[in-house]
Amino acid sequence: RVVVVGSTNLDLVVTTPTLPRPGETVLGDALRTVPGGKGANQAVAAARAGASCAFVGAIGRDGFADQLRANLAESGVDVRCLRDVPGPSGVALIAVDASAENIIVVAPGANGELTSLADPDRAAVEAADVLLCQLEVPLSAVVQAAGWARDAGTTVVLNAAPARPLPAELLDAVDLLVVNQVEAAVVAGQAGHAEPDGLLDLLVALVPRVVMTLGAEGARYADRSGLRLEVEAPKVEAVDTTAAGDAFTGALAVAWAQRRGPAPPAAVTAVLRWACAAGAACAQRPGASSALPTRDEIDALYAR
Ligand code: ADP
Repeated sequence: RVVVVGSTNLDLVVTTPTLPRPGETVLGDALRTVPGGKGANQAVAAARAGASCAFVGAIGRDGFADQLRANLAESGVDVRCLRDVPGPSGVALIAVDASAENIIVVAPGANGELTSLADPDRAAVEAADVLLCQLEVPLSAVVQAAGWARDAGTTVVLNAAPARPLPAELLDAVDLLVVNQVEAAVVAGQAGHAEPDGLLDLLVALVPRVVMTLGAEGARYADRSGLRLEVEAPKVEAVDTTAAGDAFTGALAVAWAQRRGPAPPAAVTAVLRWACAAGAACAQRPGASSALPTRDEIDALYAR
């Protein structure tokens, strides 16, 4: 079982011929409303990847809240720890032009109200095999959940996105850190630095295990036992890589929770390869959360 503590947003997306400049009005096509937020995306990714998954988060009391709740529930995510709070839900306003350039404004809304968690959330964290968090809700909630998990023996997976330097009390509770190259540099305090192996060295000094995603190139792994692994992503025709990172991370949490078979490193390599298959499966389809793959789709690419 995987429990996600994180964000849920509704993306309001309009395609326009050109992006508006300050003070300008442009006409776009029909509005599309797409459920998003890294937390909800990774919860849906984990559920589609075959895990029993619960979501801890907050929606507002507005017309968007029902759509956000239904999106999670329809994918089989347990929403008993999804609370509604006064005020608006999290929303992202997105304009996309003909060349796929975009401008995005995020209003965190209810996500920003998730400053502290309650007893039912604690029970969900303690009952899970893996706690999966990102950084789109207040850090205080992430620190609280991670502390409960550590004390209960629940594995803590942190996707440090959007990236920021992490306080010691959070680093101390994290078992597995998942970052892309840009996030790795920020967490390591080396913004601008990009050499993956050097960043992995810095990060394993902070947490026991690190996975770094490298887009079409796949992913690398490092841990404190000195193990280093490199896994290629399956070659696919990438159409839209939006949410590929969420597909990867959700699948990684599931595979980590279900990890068995041969002793490491073979077991870890298999987990990474399966997560890369999930990211690649997402990248070969248009759309964000709607492109998150099922277990069968991941297995098919993994076996290829
Ligand atoms: P993020 O979107 O968070 O920056 P990445 O771009 O590193 O993350 O992508 C996450 C994972 O998704 C990669 O590790 C890889 O497995 C998969 N992926 C992303 N882009 C591609 C691609 N073009 N081809 C195949 N797999 C991809």
